[in-house]
Amino acid sequence: MRLITFTHDNRTRIGAMRKTGQVLDLTVADPELPATMIDLLREPDAMERARDAAESAPEIAPTDVRFEAPVPRPSKVLAIGLNYRNHAEESGQPIPQRPIVFAKMPTCIVGPGHPVHIPRVSRAVDWEGELCFVIGREARYVKAEDAGDYIAGYTIGNDISVRDWQFHSPTWMMGKSFDTHGPLGPAIVTADEFDPSSAGIRLYVNGDEKQKSNTSQLIFGVGEILEYLSAGFTLEPGDVVYTGTPSGIGGAKRPPEFLKAGDTVRVEIDGLGSLENPVEEEPA
Ligand code: ZN
Repeated sequence: MRLITFTHDNRTRIGAMRKTGQVLDLTVADPELPATMIDLLREPDAMERARDAAESAPEIAPTDVRFEAPVPRPSKVLAIGLNYRNHAEESGQPIPQRPIVFAKMPTCIVGPGHPVHIPRVSRAVDWEGELCFVIGREARYVKAEDAGDYIAGYTIGNDISVRDWQFHSPTWMMGKSFDTHGPLGPAIVTADEFDPSSAGIRLYVNGDEKQKSNTSQLIFGVGEILEYLSAGFTLEPGDVVYTGTPSGIGGAKRPPEFLKAGDTVRVEIDGLGSLENPVEEEPA
């Protein structure tokens, strides 16, 4: 199932998406379903009920809705740095021995089609197409081989990075968390329908291919990442993990190439669809 969060008639709620793009209005078919993705993931039998609701839910044309990030405000957004060998190399960094973990502030999350802002304080705004996983149940001390029991599904992320601010401090966090710099979506493809170990991933700016790889090239796979994170803290339903980006970032080009107002940035992952966002100047 492809779970989404959308707004229609001024009401934001969960839904599902057909492969054709048609939106299924699940909470009309089952008014008892939770309206938010975190509540849906948290409630033990809600996923089964969502599947049942999808059988009879009314359809809405995708052009009539506003797509939100599938989890509009996760409690945690974590990300892994330098997790593709060729990206570590282009960054002039050694191959990591452990996952390099940083946080993105939950306020940076935006949905498909929402603008990514060029902030007032920087022009060095870069792209990073990434596979993301979404936690489905409380996870602590999870072994890599059991990770599937804790992951609700997968989606696409763009780990937008303000490169000068990223390197103001070794934690990277300021440059990774600007408002609008966490595009996510369009749907959570449930774990039964997607194999994270081998999926093509590509990123385009204005239709020009900038990144192209396969998730088989991840240094630390989804299971290893979840084992590492959950050794330290509890991951909760709806938490999102960006798993890292392949080579081809703008900051590694000579001269560097950054996003500017008027651009369109698009990430594709085979089996997950595509995530496209326009780039705009931050409003005054
Ligand atoms: Zn990243």
